[in-house]
Amino acid sequence: MARILITSAIPYINGIKHLGNLVGSQLPADLYARYMRARGHEVLFLCATDEHGTPAELAAAKTGEPVAEYCARMHGVQAELARGFRLSFDHFGRSSSPQNHRLTQYFAGRLAENGYIEEVTEKQIYSNADKRFLPDRYIEGTCPNCGYDKARGDQCENCTKQLDPTDLIEPRSAISGSTDLEVRETKHLYLRQSLMKDELAAWIDSKTDWPILTTSIARKWLNDGDGLQDRGITRDLDWGIPVKRGEEDWPGMEGKVFYVWFDAPIEYIAAAAEWAEAQGRPDADWRRWWRTDEGAADVRYVQFMGKDNVPFHTLSFPATIMGSRDPWKLVDYIKSFNYLNYDGGQFSTSQGRGVFMDQALAILPSDYWRWWLLSHAPEHSDSEFTWENFQASVNKDLADVLGNFVSRVTKFCRAKFGEVVPEGGSPGDRETELTDELYIRLRAYQAHMEAIEIRKAAGELRAIWVAGNEYLQAAAPWTAIKTEPETAAMQIRFSLNLIRLYAVLSAPFIPDASAALLKALDSGDDWPEDLPAALNRLAPGHAFATPDILFRKITDEEREGWQAQFAGARH
Ligand SMILES: [Zn+2]
Repeated sequence: MARILITSAIPYINGIKHLGNLVGSQLPADLYARYMRARGHEVLFLCATDEHGTPAELAAAKTGEPVAEYCARMHGVQAELARGFRLSFDHFGRSSSPQNHRLTQYFAGRLAENGYIEEVTEKQIYSNADKRFLPDRYIEGTCPNCGYDKARGDQCENCTKQLDPTDLIEPRSAISGSTDLEVRETKHLYLRQSLMKDELAAWIDSKTDWPILTTSIARKWLNDGDGLQDRGITRDLDWGIPVKRGEEDWPGMEGKVFYVWFDAPIEYIAAAAEWAEAQGRPDADWRRWWRTDEGAADVRYVQFMGKDNVPFHTLSFPATIMGSRDPWKLVDYIKSFNYLNYDGGQFSTSQGRGVFMDQALAILPSDYWRWWLLSHAPEHSDSEFTWENFQASVNKDLADVLGNFVSRVTKFCRAKFGEVVPEGGSPGDRETELTDELYIRLRAYQAHMEAIEIRKAAGELRAIWVAGNEYLQAAAPWTAIKTEPETAAMQIRFSLNLIRLYAVLSAPFIPDASAALLKALDSGDDWPEDLPAALNRLAPGHAFATPDILFRKITDEEREGWQAQFAGARH
């Protein structure tokens, strides 16, 4: 039994995520977690909301809520949607947690002790009325390029010109509207990533099993242009983790918080601490997942994320961990994803384009979406969601292949033998042949799941379903029962056991359908380590209940209706 730590990139707090976000991190991470648990491994699967930074403050200002209340409410919304999609997190944490405050301050202190933090004096705009330094986007004024009077200090929304706050004509505070602004000197902290460039490069080079997508992005950031740059890790904001050096105050950093990119990945560790607290466990229970000197030496740590998150996870967060010179666990494998596009364009949160998690669940149960998204995961290139493809895939794979097999077998059994596994007859060549085929396919399925080759795993699972259909068609128990009722009984007994096998193997992809089948069959979900034994698991005389229709077909009218409904922007 192995110990596997799994994290999904943590979603930002300001709003509901679309299906492209879901398939780029949380959903494949859940697939892997469910599979590894099913194989008997010890899994800790963590995710959280990423709650700091200017966009959270701005989103809260828009709704009129204090930012802490806004984040608490949106965390609840995202947690509910995660439950709706059956994301099986052991803990869904919050980057604003006290645990993350302590750990982030701790890491900053360690990095400073080891010479990886530089204090840099910069000139920045100070608002006397607001009594605070203003980030660039908190300063508004008239654009010198186009005359737009609500241009922001970082960019003009109207003409898209990149700006410095000092370029603005009649600059004012976006918070209070005050024009009583002055340029003052202020200090910020920088993480000296450039000092760790060689160490990071050697570490990336050692990861020969990582996807090319992951390592190529990391190498680009390491080597392109002037190479890996030092990065600011502090900001002048109210909402965030106050800058401290461990538990000590940091002279000159009063009123500042850590920049969100610095504290967000540390939440992976903090989420484990939150999990332990929520479970009433001692600190040793989470530290054994994260500290190689406290039990994590045998942990395999796997991260899931979209390609836009790769630089932070291959360079910045490892630099934080390495620079601490503490034995924290570094990631062992990074599974990164390309983008899922929507119907000829991109999913877009800002433009409300595409299908969002809440909308998807309002239309169909989560298994329909899980199956389509995972079987079309953008692993080796971008992929595209179209309603035609979604309809075709659901109707064929789920309704015609899997659903129909279950329905034909159970209904035939109920009609001819009752709701009980029939006895009589002995398996013959046809059953042996199918068992041999399933043995090979099961091995391939397991290998793909372990390698996190999701589309290949989905393809193999589909082939396993198809093999059962082809068997049933060739065996034709509805014909056999007329002349050889014992043979028909054996075929149906074998097929009922196939249904149970399918329920167990399919659980990581479609957990609700799997649970419904196992409940109907009144059987456990143990993995078929011994395939012939698994195919005899439901013995003659075992009672079952004919399950309801597993998957319904999507009609052309529905598809057209949804196409029209989602053609515009989300309101
Ligand atoms: Zn402009």
